[in-house]
Amino acid sequence: MSVLPSHARVVIIGGGAVGASALYHLAKAGWTDCVLLEKNELTAGSTWHAAGNVPTFSSSWSLMNMQRYSASLYRDLGDLVDYPMNYHVTGSIRLGHSKERLQEFKRVVGMGRYQGMDLDILSPDEMRSKYPFLETHDLTGALYDPYDGDIDPAQLTQALAKGARDMGAKIFRFCPATGARREGEEWVISTPQGEIRCEKVVNAAGYYAREVGKWFGREVPMMVMSHQYMLFEEIPELAAWSREAGHKLPLLRDVDSSYYLRQEKTGMNLGPYERNCKAHWVTPDDPMPDDFSFQLFPDDLDRLEWYLNDAVERVPILGTAGLSRMINGPIPYAPDGNPLIGPMPGVPNAYEACVFTFGICQAGGAGKVLAEWVTEGETEWDMWSCDPRRYTSFAADKDYCVAKGMEIYGHEYAMHFPKYAWPAGRDQKHSPIHDRIKALGAQFKPYNGWERANWYAAPGDDLSEQSTQTWNREGPWRPRIEAECRAVTEAAGILDLPGFSRFRVKGEGATAWLSSLITGKVPKPGRIGLAYFSDDKGRIVTEMSVMMLDEDFFFLITAATAQWHDFEWLQKHLPKGAAFTIDDVTESFSCQILSGPNSRAILADVTDADLSKGWLTHQSCQIAGRWCQLVRVSFAGELGWEIHTKIEDTPAIFDAVWAAGQKHGLKPFGMEALDSLRIEKGYRAWKGDLSTDYTILQGGLDRFVDWAKPDFKGKAALEREKQQGVTKRFVTLTVEAGDCDAPYMSTLWHGGKVVGETTSGNWGYRTGKSIALGMLKADLAVPGTEIEVEIYGDRFKAVVQPDGPLFDPNNERLRA
Ligand SMILES: Cc1cc2nc3c(=O)[nH]c(=O)nc-3n(C[C@H](O)[C@H](O)[C@H](O)COP(=O)(O)OP(=O)(O)OC[C@H]3O[C@@H](n4cnc5c(N)ncnc54)[C@H](O)[C@@H]3O)c2cc1C
Repeated sequence: MSVLPSHARVVIIGGGAVGASALYHLAKAGWTDCVLLEKNELTAGSTWHAAGNVPTFSSSWSLMNMQRYSASLYRDLGDLVDYPMNYHVTGSIRLGHSKERLQEFKRVVGMGRYQGMDLDILSPDEMRSKYPFLETHDLTGALYDPYDGDIDPAQLTQALAKGARDMGAKIFRFCPATGARREGEEWVISTPQGEIRCEKVVNAAGYYAREVGKWFGREVPMMVMSHQYMLFEEIPELAAWSREAGHKLPLLRDVDSSYYLRQEKTGMNLGPYERNCKAHWVTPDDPMPDDFSFQLFPDDLDRLEWYLNDAVERVPILGTAGLSRMINGPIPYAPDGNPLIGPMPGVPNAYEACVFTFGICQAGGAGKVLAEWVTEGETEWDMWSCDPRRYTSFAADKDYCVAKGMEIYGHEYAMHFPKYAWPAGRDQKHSPIHDRIKALGAQFKPYNGWERANWYAAPGDDLSEQSTQTWNREGPWRPRIEAECRAVTEAAGILDLPGFSRFRVKGEGATAWLSSLITGKVPKPGRIGLAYFSDDKGRIVTEMSVMMLDEDFFFLITAATAQWHDFEWLQKHLPKGAAFTIDDVTESFSCQILSGPNSRAILADVTDADLSKGWLTHQSCQIAGRWCQLVRVSFAGELGWEIHTKIEDTPAIFDAVWAAGQKHGLKPFGMEALDSLRIEKGYRAWKGDLSTDYTILQGGLDRFVDWAKPDFKGKAALEREKQQGVTKRFVTLTVEAGDCDAPYMSTLWHGGKVVGETTSGNWGYRTGKSIALGMLKADLAVPGTEIEVEIYGDRFKAVVQPDGPLFDPNNERLRA
């Protein structure tokens, strides 16, 4: 046995499919001085008992991208590393029982096509021709994924491991990591075979990731579910068909009933995601064992009975087969069901590649993404959907993780309708005026754990879950959102915005440092401005509002969900020995957005502030005898102020403004109305319109670039891009849409070709138009150009609008 080296550049903890893929991709990137520690044999964790399905389907662009990459890697991997594998590309059929499901499929077909994959919609006849044993009488259609298939997870892991070893990386089996400590700039990982020092460390410990995370002071947001599949004996009819056809049946997923059914040799494999599901290792009477290598939970057939009966009705030959074996193993779940891939929050040079629910089909892509994080500090594709920093401290709560994990597992294939707020794990964080806005009819949705009003219902409105099961614009919310927008436009509206992330930057040198990080100018004292942060490639990292209180003293304000991400970006760029400090003071403040032509009159009744101060100014003042900061900006695009308050003073200040507003027509409004109002102004939203998939120049943010500054992060790349010409451009489109506005990543068409994609879409009530923001090939990004937007499978005419806001293009209302 080889001896554990005393040092490696990277140590990966965990030798499942994901850890092996991370090692393989690090080695491929030239980082061969890497060591993987596995406490048992490779594949001893979830990878051992996985069914091995490899779908490309996802309604998330980035997950689809990752899975597409995996499937393509697996096709060639055997040859590449000289390790033949059982990988059957059988295709798959995903059954649809409703109009809404077909819409979902058509959207995914559009995204898939854009990623170069020929996904397709099948009619019942076409389904039967591919799958003759299928009952189709109650189906509306199906999605066909020709790239889907199944792989032997152990062989996949071994192949990745061989590839990594061949390139010089090292794997130590039966060598558990038992602890980690920081010494200087290094991590020291302890094992029974001695200590190993490294620059960087990766937690790829699967369902043990929480335990490993603790060594780093990190509470990994996760829980563990039991997932079972049933293996059936040979079905002679299937065996005969397969012999004749010369291939296996496509994999079947009945997503509305919630199971997959796969041909396994001449039998079948049925794997339900059952509603009556079971979490493990969450109660004292079911403690997590120190070692669960190559172990399973006891069979629990009762939970699966309904699904078995349903599958037999769907594929009657299954009813003739005897059950040969059950597999019941642990799967880790993050609260949204996506894995954690990227920097370990708050911990230097530590990374996560863990909590994979679909770690076989995602391992390939995940290895690529992880290796990029480690070697370059950034990824080719925007991977926010999997970024560990998308969860902040509230998600460390075990009960929250269990509630969300069970909800996701029990609805694994559910459609995620835009107006539905999933009920589990709610009420993590309340605004100080939560009860007041609840009494006004607020319909809540969580944003980084904070419950915010999405819209305000009136008595008698249909608030059932059923009413939300649609992709359509129309619904009980529509007249309410319209009225909220009208109030903001004609009188005034107030929106409670708890959890606006806020960082205080103070001390000598802060201004110069900030200027070196943002593309534009630092505002003067007393003023606020939007600032964009670019990476070295010129790509959009984030957007913050910079409020300069005094020389070298700022508040930086950013999206609720960006709290950890943005804070880390600032900290990462903090110069050694800086004389200034950065503090996250999010929890100490709250905010009300007061917007609309009457907002000045309302404030005049409650404050002695100078309300004649212009747009993009701020001032300290008193309301109801309490301090607050009045900031003259409006994401809604009307005359308005943000009222920033100390958390404890928020109720008194809200009450005073609310009371004063009554004679001025003040109404509450929610996040839905705000989104409609902002899209009419062309204001970008983070991680939709603004992401690392685009550069600052592609994003149309040229006017936020101060080329005259001697330097700023990303300047060289942006100068190069400017010189070479920008290939795609951010545009505002008006769309002659049908019942639905364009969701994220709807494809844009021109002359029979895909020429771009939407980054967000909504209805504009002031303009009476369906609006989409998106990225279009630069030569087409000319006002007046007619293109088409594909929305849930249908194409609608759209027209490129002049650069600038659609509503109030000269910002006269804002400046009023
Ligand atoms: C029944 C079942 C069916 C499934 N079917 C599919 C499917 O069809 N398709 C799909 O994509 N996914 C499927 N999954 C999910 C899939 O198995 C997991 O997502 C995937 O295996 C996760 O891989 P991993 O490498 O992250 O974790 P694991 O495979 O669990 O690997 C983690 C490794 O870390 C090791 N380890 C832990 N602690 C330490 C330590 N301290 N030191 C060293 N090593 C340590 C463990 O021994 C283990 O080998 C299924 C899961 C189950 C339970």
